[in-house]
Amino acid sequence: MEICSSINGVRELAQKARAGAKRIALVPTMGFLHEGHISLVKGAQKSCGFVALSIFVNPTQFGPSEDFSRYPRDFERDARLCREAGVDVIFAPEAKEIYPEGFSTSVHVEGLTAPLCGASRPGHFDGVCTVVLKLLNIVSPDEAFFGEKDFQQLAVIKRMAKDLNLACEITGMPIVREPDGLAMSSRNAYLSPGERENALSLSRSLLLADEMAAKGAGTGEIEASTASYLAENSIRVDYVSILDPATLQQTNSPRGALMALAGFAGKTRLIDNRILTR
Ligand code: AMP
Repeated sequence: MEICSSINGVRELAQKARAGAKRIALVPTMGFLHEGHISLVKGAQKSCGFVALSIFVNPTQFGPSEDFSRYPRDFERDARLCREAGVDVIFAPEAKEIYPEGFSTSVHVEGLTAPLCGASRPGHFDGVCTVVLKLLNIVSPDEAFFGEKDFQQLAVIKRMAKDLNLACEITGMPIVREPDGLAMSSRNAYLSPGERENALSLSRSLLLADEMAAKGAGTGEIEASTASYLAENSIRVDYVSILDPATLQQTNSPRGALMALAGFAGKTRLIDNRILTR
């Protein structure tokens, strides 16, 4: 496995692999890897012969009061996990490699970025789209892999790829959970044992919502009941929304809809989602 911090270095390796007729995959991450990230690598290996994984805690997607400076980092551990998973190259640039002096461009996707995390984290998706487009231009992969854990991010990136005629295929992979249901996240490392227990209410509330939908409850009723359940479990709710998964617009029919949650366990902001059973 190679480790590159320069754009030219990773570009050369990807070009060489392409010249050897290999299909190239990119798995963009912010590091502090867990099984969710590794599932993207495994997905990538199924359809591509060369897998690049980027590790970059992208400053431009964090708000001023968010956790950029304390975001968990452990490069040695990440490198070991990548080596064990059979990643071909880690691209781990410094911020100045990605945003040199004078950098002045931002990519903005309208519409899909308006609700959910886009409403709570102004500018977040501009930061995400800009860095993802840069990574795609640097590596030129045939296929890039993203988790459905960040459902809105996946939808926004698919939109960007379509609107800007990117040659890269964008593939979503299912959410990987801890055995007790908690969606895996690098931010779970922040949780105290009590907060982790409270955080379980996120995935549990999605299952309760699914049961309510199956019994014919309406969106408003499910959203309200979910918000109360989370509050009872000491989660400070950011949003509880049932939306059309294609448009991220409100829908009146919960069956087959996207149920998306964000809330704080202590100071840690967590998200989760589920497509409610039809
Ligand atoms: P992050 O490092 O949190 O920016 O995540 C990098 C990629 O891994 C994104 O495409 C995420 O959606 C994906 N990811 C993070 N957590 C999970 C998970 N629990 N299951 C599946 N994919 C995940």
